[in-house]
Amino acid sequence: MNNDNANLRQHKVLLIYTGGTIGMGRNPQTGALEPLNFEHLIANLPEYAYLKTDVDVYQFTPPIDSSDISLRRWAQIVRIIADGYDRYDGFVILHGTDTMAYTASALSFMLENLTKPVILTGSQLPIGQLRTDGKENLVTSIELASAYNDNGRPMVPEVCIFFGGRLLRGNRSTKESADGFNAFNTFNYPHLCEAGVEFQFNPHFILKPDYSRPMIPHYAMDPNVVVFSLFPGIQQNIVRHVLEAPELRGIVMRSFGSGNAPQKPWIRQLLMDATKRGVTVVNITQCVAGNVKMGRYEASYQLKDAGIVSGYDSTVESAVTKLMFLQARYSDCHTIRNLMNTNLCGEITK
Ligand code: ASP
Repeated sequence: MNNDNANLRQHKVLLIYTGGTIGMGRNPQTGALEPLNFEHLIANLPEYAYLKTDVDVYQFTPPIDSSDISLRRWAQIVRIIADGYDRYDGFVILHGTDTMAYTASALSFMLENLTKPVILTGSQLPIGQLRTDGKENLVTSIELASAYNDNGRPMVPEVCIFFGGRLLRGNRSTKESADGFNAFNTFNYPHLCEAGVEFQFNPHFILKPDYSRPMIPHYAMDPNVVVFSLFPGIQQNIVRHVLEAPELRGIVMRSFGSGNAPQKPWIRQLLMDATKRGVTVVNITQCVAGNVKMGRYEASYQLKDAGIVSGYDSTVESAVTKLMFLQARYSDCHTIRNLMNTNLCGEITK
């Protein structure tokens, strides 16, 4: 499908500026990049005046480095979107790249039955620098957030990341490069659109929400989760301290290959003790691509037996934010485990 099907007539978009490199400038004392307000950003983007879309702006005061994003900030973004949901055709969130995939994943769960585009973008070089990628990322994200088809439906009614010419499903995205312009990728899911001279949408891979249902915003997230990676030589006492933390309700375990763990009895025992206490243990792979298949090898059969649930082909960002979301909504670990195994909004392939 090309541009002809993406009706780019004037729509109204809300731009939420949270911070990140895109709007940063150098502190003259320290030389370090720090977030500046939206006026600085716009002063470096004369193209803004020529946009066909009607854009309103909401900015975080002060704007933040995305390393400082928090559950409170996610709830704030959800509130802004929910409050403006009927007034805007789409939303663009300017966000630092470091935690953009976490925010995109969290929002995909918190905005239940989303029927409008929510596009996160940012840049690797500040918008004031000559070779910046910020202009292209910002202008194209606004076009994508306002791209509707002839039936009046948005082309991408889901939470996405747009970066380096690719539109990606938010809860499938991972930051793959700390300094390249193609900073994000979805290793287990096709790109939703390639933005070259024309937009090449892949409609088959884009979510099709139920437009008769309202969008339901959720604000609460339970942070009592931990991500831990297995590695050869991992020590029992250290793992015990982490797994026995009394507040802990969810564990994302990054295992080897297709979901394998060392076959030491203490590992199975500690994990089983945790699951018996009601902790949800989710098994995802350390590989950037591929799916967990517990039981394929003896080294993962023992995990299945210990009550661990498969995270399938989840990214770590998606698994951890999905756990936070489900733990805030349900007290019963069986419901949480069942829903971790359910594809809620395109985050896993079963
Ligand atoms: N540290 C920055 C941030 O995540 C990096 C970036 O925006 O690319 O806010």
